[in-house]
Amino acid sequence: MPLIKKRQLEVWAQLSGEERERFLESLPATKEQIEDLFDYLDRRLQDEPCVHNLRFTMQFLMERRLDMPRVMSWLNENGGYCDCEVLQNIETKWFEAFAEE
Ligand SMILES: [Zn+2]
Repeated sequence: MPLIKKRQLEVWAQLSGEERERFLESLPATKEQIEDLFDYLDRRLQDEPCVHNLRFTMQFLMERRLDMPRVMSWLNENGGYCDCEVLQNIETKWFEAFAEE
């Protein structure tokens, strides 16, 4: 992972108060929808291994009628280039930053 992306992720856990609000408002979906995506991927990847693309993510986004291009580019920016990376690279950091809510 390039250094700059890594920093971007580390910053999540350091956000406080207003910054945090602004970060959540800037997301391409609601906090709940993103957490639903993690749950969905967890379930799907238990049955079928990742084939290293975003197929389950895309299915989720289609079913929920979410903004696919925006969500996918947000995932890419944060190191999620396939379904298992979304969980490994993004979910882990996400819960470090937001678990207490
Ligand atoms: Zn993968």
